[in-house]
Amino acid sequence: MSNNNSSTIANRRRFLSQLALGAAALPLLRWAPAQAADLPHLSVDDPSAKALGYTESAAKLDPKTEASYKPGSRCGSCALFQGKDAQGDYAGCAAFPGKAVNKNGWCRAYSKAG
Ligand code: SF4
Repeated sequence: MSNNNSSTIANRRRFLSQLALGAAALPLLRWAPAQAADLPHLSVDDPSAKALGYTESAAKLDPKTEASYKPGSRCGSCALFQGKDAQGDYAGCAAFPGKAVNKNGWCRAYSKAG
């Protein structure tokens, strides 16, 4: 009887220990690569994207019609691009929280990375 009780207590302790480890790891799992992989791509039709003239392809911009565009500038060289968390061609951007922008894109908030 007491052997059965100590076995039950050991099982309960093991279960609680695993539960605690799992609970401790949850925030890390949610936080870790949550960046670009989980972010929806910014649509050029999004009102905030339109307001800043966001495009997915800076190379197609014409400096004559987009006066603030400097040839060669693109999201990938912008200080607001969160490239270290990039997932493929996309990463977060400080100008568009919660959205991922294309590394070859551009918008009027472009700021050359130092
Ligand atoms: S702020 Fe920079 S990284 Fe963000 S969309 Fe504009 S050019 Fe791209």
